[in-house]
Amino acid sequence: MEKFASPGKGNGLRLTKHAKPGELLYRAEPFAYTVTKKRLGGVCERCLRRKDRLLRCSQCKVARYCDIQCQKVAWQDHKRECKCIKNIDPNFPPDSVRLVGRIIFKLLRQSTCPSEELYSFSDLQSNFEKLSEEMKEGLGYLTRALQLYLKVEIQDVSQLPPALDVFQTFAKVTCNCFSISNGEVQDVGVGLYPSMSLLNNNCDPNCVIVFQGPQLHLRSIREIQIGEELTISYIDTMMSSAERQQQLKRQYCFECDCLMCRTHSKEAFMLAGDEQAWKEVKEVINKVTTPKSQEEWKEALVKYRTSFKKTGTLLPDTNIYQLKLLDLAMDACINLGLLEEALLYGNRTLEPYRFYYSSFHPLRAVQMMRVAKLQYSQDMFPQALETLKQAYDIMKVTHGAEHSLVQDLMMLKEDCEAGITVKSGPQT
Ligand SMILES: [Zn+2]
Ligand SMILES: [Zn+2]
Ligand SMILES: [Zn+2]
Repeated sequence: MEKFASPGKGNGLRLTKHAKPGELLYRAEPFAYTVTKKRLGGVCERCLRRKDRLLRCSQCKVARYCDIQCQKVAWQDHKRECKCIKNIDPNFPPDSVRLVGRIIFKLLRQSTCPSEELYSFSDLQSNFEKLSEEMKEGLGYLTRALQLYLKVEIQDVSQLPPALDVFQTFAKVTCNCFSISNGEVQDVGVGLYPSMSLLNNNCDPNCVIVFQGPQLHLRSIREIQIGEELTISYIDTMMSSAERQQQLKRQYCFECDCLMCRTHSKEAFMLAGDEQAWKEVKEVINKVTTPKSQEEWKEALVKYRTSFKKTGTLLPDTNIYQLKLLDLAMDACINLGLLEEALLYGNRTLEPYRFYYSSFHPLRAVQMMRVAKLQYSQDMFPQALETLKQAYDIMKVTHGAEHSLVQDLMMLKEDCEAGITVKSGPQT
């Protein structure tokens, strides 16, 4: 893999050898990362694994770890922030503030990092000149929040060396930060992987990024020729091209001119059906916040059911807003233990997912696994096995056979096979 000047896009990454789909092209440890505020206390701060019982840092009483081993490894990055966290209790910094705190402590240690092999932290673009006023205002607010947070360790952040300019660092983090997701594609952390910031965006990319703990894996999902640029998609591509452009512009300061954006491909399907109807559904979705109690889940589900009743015949399941609502309804049902109804919604999502994530895509595989789990829970073992088989075919490309999610899939597959044996009765 090598860095090169990509026409019109600044730097890019390309291959020096041919790659087949499913090759692990690069493995990167984060330059800096942190667990997200949302998952605080539920996952280990070092390996990001979810666990019911975690050890607590005796100093700040916030950071949690699987065991002493994880805590020891994490200490270098936690040592100074630990005092800051303790100092601002009961407040807690937003993710970007905590991450920038860690970056600053790391830069002050002047330690080198293998994830800077192709591109270093100081090389990262901040797109400072292109930021909107609104964005600059937001970064100003974060800078002040950082000062309050770091106070016990750094009295005045404006006195830091120029290479550590806080405002610039926030701008860099905004357009170079990766969301770290776990096996179920839930966001568990945020991190910087400078060399991977060379990857440019394409809404129909030839590579995907998956994570194993905080480690980033870049994998090919197509045949890639020597010299061909490597691309990933920065955002979820199941959005209309106007919405994609808006988000890319806002966060990454550029307009995407990939083939999918130029030709508006699949757009007619994304916005299919009665316009008034999908606008209403869009509004329902925009108002959604994550429910915090059973009561709230119930209320949410009632809203979704009402919406389905109203728009049922007016919108196809390929309409992206209808599809998002199906996903939300499935989630709500799972949370309320209504697994039969959850499966109804889940089944309806599979075709549209196949259509939108047509080549190998981690989201499609994970969706299939969720459906397979629901089928399994209702003793539909042969169906579950078939769904898992299809999920596996995607995952061996997007995740690789060694990934822990594929191990989970194999275990579920064994359970299904055992279920079939039990169901067919005792062998005499
Ligand atoms: Zn601590
Ligand atoms: Zn751990
Ligand atoms: Zn695009």
